[in-house]
Amino acid sequence: YMQSKALVYSTHGEPRDKLHLHTYSISPPTRTSITLRMLAAPINPADVNQIQGSYPSKPPLGTALGTSVPSAVGGNEGVAEVLATGGECKTVGKGDWVIMKRTGMGTWRTHMQVDEGEVMKIPNKEGLSALQVGTVSVNPVSAYRMVKDYVDWSAFGLRDKEEWLIQNGANSGVGRAAIQFAKQWGIKSLNVIRERPGWKALKSELEDLGATKVVTESTLMERSFKDQVAEWTKSGREPIRLGLNCVGGKNATALAKLLSPDAQMVTYGAMSKQPTLLPTGLLIFNNITFSGFWVSKWSDRHAREKQQTVEDILNMMREGSFKDVPVQELLWDRGTKEEQLKEAVQGTLEGYRKGKGVFLF
Ligand code: NDP
Repeated sequence: YMQSKALVYSTHGEPRDKLHLHTYSISPPTRTSITLRMLAAPINPADVNQIQGSYPSKPPLGTALGTSVPSAVGGNEGVAEVLATGGECKTVGKGDWVIMKRTGMGTWRTHMQVDEGEVMKIPNKEGLSALQVGTVSVNPVSAYRMVKDYVDWSAFGLRDKEEWLIQNGANSGVGRAAIQFAKQWGIKSLNVIRERPGWKALKSELEDLGATKVVTESTLMERSFKDQVAEWTKSGREPIRLGLNCVGGKNATALAKLLSPDAQMVTYGAMSKQPTLLPTGLLIFNNITFSGFWVSKWSDRHAREKQQTVEDILNMMREGSFKDVPVQELLWDRGTKEEQLKEAVQGTLEGYRKGKGVFLF
């Protein structure tokens, strides 16, 4: 028997009030079950929304882990090492690294037991860190699919012209990944960040990742900005064919107005907590298509493509052509207090952070 510690919640609300550490024991695996030791698990904005109760997919609450009230383990993403396998296990073996196939499995815990069918094996972990593998399947996969799937880019065809994407939330995990894929695939990117003391350093950091242009939200809102954009895009001869919307509100409206006719605008987040308002003329006269992307749904529907996407990104990481996002690591060890773990989760939606919170085990 082995002991696991898990960050669990039983009712919805603020993470600092609702999360607590629960210790339970795991019996040796039988049949097709496997015992995992978590290596790294990020704290994504959606994980917090899930605890707050505002996220559409919620893991079921249960008492299987021996909690006194029905509970769920927090966290949706992460990488684990296989410690032991049941006798009928065919797809993974001891020492393999695996990631979760779906969301809601509860990754904020030291150990877990699942069925082998619930995990995706990392075929070659050589040259990769647990941090890279543990954060590949949500942010980078989302950016990869959104940049690739909505526009028939010239870069993948005759490459007869330069083309652009524009995005807000460019400093987010998704935003930083989108910058890198655009660069890799020969698409120019116009990136919007929020102003802050020292934002110029952030601008250069994103330019180093491959951003073509980086501007602040207040510049985006200026009336004269469209003239600047016209200059950059050679009066539209280099069309802005894709908009990625992480933020919503006025920012999204301003972003949409810069799109070229027939462009796509894909919404994947609402960090401002404001609705996305769309000028009617963009729909009627400019034929802009507005849609949304949800990586959970995409992954469930495209299991094979998901595996290929993950492997493609991990290869880029291994080659050094995809840089890690800045993170704030929090090690779960004997000295770590429950309060520190809860505060790390609570701080996730604050903004202007040094990096995404990641639990390391
Ligand atoms: P990160 O935790 O990496 O970063 C959060 C980002 O949000 C930061 O860049 C921050 O900007 C920005 N932000 C915070 N508050 C505000 C605000 N009030 N106005 C504008 N921007 C704000 O985020 P992720 O990349 O993990 O996720 C970003 C968003 O994308 C979230 O809403 C998340 O739920 C969503 N998402 C959606 C997916 C999908 O499939 N639909 C998949 C993955 C993520 P700053 O740098 O200025 O602090």
